[in-house]
Amino acid sequence: MKLKKKIHLFSTLLMFILLVLANILIYFFFERMSHNTEYDQLHGRAKELTAVLSQLETELDAGIVLRAFIPANGAISIVDSNNKTLINVQSLVGLGQVEGHVKPSNSFTIDRFEGTEALTISMPIIWPTGEVVTMKMTQLLTNVEENMKALKYVLIGVTIFAMIPITLSSMTLGRIVTQPIENLIKAMNRSRQSGTYEKLAGVVNGNDELAQMERTFNEMMEQLEQNFMKQEQFVSNASHELKTPLTVIESYSRLLARRGFENREVVEESLNAIISETGRMKEMIEQLLDLAKSSGSQRFEFAQVDLKPLLEVAVKPLRQAYGREIIIEADGPAIVETDGEFVKQLLFILLDNARKYSDREIFTSIEVLQEEVAITVKDYGKGIPQSDLPHIFDRFYRVESDRSRKTGGTGLGLSIAKEIADGLGATLTIESVVDMGTVIRVLIPKNRKVLRRF
Ligand code: ADP
Repeated sequence: MKLKKKIHLFSTLLMFILLVLANILIYFFFERMSHNTEYDQLHGRAKELTAVLSQLETELDAGIVLRAFIPANGAISIVDSNNKTLINVQSLVGLGQVEGHVKPSNSFTIDRFEGTEALTISMPIIWPTGEVVTMKMTQLLTNVEENMKALKYVLIGVTIFAMIPITLSSMTLGRIVTQPIENLIKAMNRSRQSGTYEKLAGVVNGNDELAQMERTFNEMMEQLEQNFMKQEQFVSNASHELKTPLTVIESYSRLLARRGFENREVVEESLNAIISETGRMKEMIEQLLDLAKSSGSQRFEFAQVDLKPLLEVAVKPLRQAYGREIIIEADGPAIVETDGEFVKQLLFILLDNARKYSDREIFTSIEVLQEEVAITVKDYGKGIPQSDLPHIFDRFYRVESDRSRKTGGTGLGLSIAKEIADGLGATLTIESVVDMGTVIRVLIPKNRKVLRRF
């Protein structure tokens, strides 16, 4: 059964049951009240009769008095201790024969006389003979029955009338709740069939949970679409970048096969090119793996780390391998809660770029700030044009003049650095002036930040 129908059926049924129960309660309460009123009246009359009877001296007068006290549509009978009827006066034939055994626990009984309810009360009285007898007084409840019938019709009418708005409102409620869900299902089905990321049409207003659900769905689809596009872009860029060295290797291998056996120069040139391109591919594959590691669900192992010795360790291989002058300016210890290995990898990327894109000394410094520690890497090289700065952290992005690959880059270094920084809760800022140099700053929080990664 559809949710809309379930809500509609359940709420209507519930309201119907409640209404019926309330009406049954009203009906019986009213009936009880009517009986009690009739009882009070009859009881009052019986008491008056008792007072009159107590003043009588002969049994003969009793019949006349009783007749004077018969209620309209009623009867009075006097029963002695042997259950023998002494006198029976009645305004309707046979009414005096109504059983009317009033139990001691009840004040009256209700019996049926020719299809109509009859209320009987009984009380002991002293008969003019001095004997204690029981007086039974019966009253037909014709008026009460008519009132109860009228009340029954009114209550049935009210129930039917009340069910109309109840049915309408439960239908509306069902529609309000299920409409957004139906829209979601439709959007998901469209996405499934077309393979696209379909969002809900129109602007979703409102603050209720359903409106929030619709907005969250649209945001989620937007994010998934962006992620998918990024992924697609990444795969196509990666294949393109890997295809270029492979094409170079393939063409040099063909050259070797054609002319390599008789020409040593061709062999040397080809092998050098093949070795260099293989190295580039290896580096790129390693960087792709790094990227997958740092952007995936890689667990960073946070611990208290002193950044000063860490910077020294990162600088050392560059000094040794390239003989470059790298200045370190750092005062005391700079302790932060971070993952030392990842910080080292990040610094290595920045230092290697400074080495590749400058010829003079490289300047590094550590500054301990209030909430974080700043590590700066500064070079006096060729710099990055302002128009390239916004894209510098994109995967495979390289400044136009460096695409000739003389410097041997892949365009992945800074995007890996950015992924690592994001993972560590650190921030990367870059300032650069063409032909003057570049300054990159890493701000690492002293205490670990709780991160939200999508
Ligand atoms: P690559 O492997 O090409 O160095 P990166 O992602 O590390 O890849 O850098 C992207 C591009 O940014 C580089 O190709 C280069 O053009 C530019 N770049 C990065 N660092 C510097 C720097 N210190 N000085 C000048 N240009 C830089």
